Amino acid sequence: MKKLTKLFAILVAAFILTTCAFASACADSSTSSTGEHVCEYVSIITKPATCTENGEETIACTYCGEVLETNTIPATGHEFGEWYQTKPATCKEEGELYKDCKNCDFFDTRMIPVADHDYTYYVQVIDEATCTEEGLGMGNCSCGAKKEVVLEKLEHEYEDGFCLNCGLPEETDKE
Ligand SMILES: [Zn+2]
Ligand SMILES: [Zn+2]
Ligand SMILES: [Zn+2]
Ligand SMILES: [Zn+2]
Repeated sequence: MKKLTKLFAILVAAFILTTCAFASACADSSTSSTGEHVCEYVSIITKPATCTENGEETIACTYCGEVLETNTIPATGHEFGEWYQTKPATCKEEGELYKDCKNCDFFDTRMIPVADHDYTYYVQVIDEATCTEEGLGMGNCSCGAKKEVVLEKLEHEYEDGFCLNCGLPEETDKE
């Protein structure tokens, strides 16, 4: 849509330029009986360049329309915006990144690799951790995948210099 609007605007501009130039040429030639004029060349974009196609510029006289030369306007190439995430990766599915051209409908996509399972989603305790031993749990990912996980040791609970749970003195709180 934006491409068409821009193209249309340029064509209108070129048309107005051309029409005005020839209109004034008519006016000039009607007032000047000699019919002689010095060619005055202007650049008219006859075909605007797009991202992928070359455009064309015509250098022509504003009075008689004589074409001096036509030049190729090189294609501009796509102008991409930032990548943005259209779909986040999960442990089951790849995600997707997307970017598009600011000037046309061209777009590009890129895959985001499948993410690791998150076993901390829900952990079933098999063996409780204590302040001296690690415990064992069954970690569950939100997708249903399971894996045994280690449960961190608990903190000692000291009172009067000794742990209430394991009895170790506070100075040597590790075995
Ligand atoms: Zn001329
Ligand atoms: Zn483009
Ligand atoms: Zn998972
Ligand atoms: Zn303890």
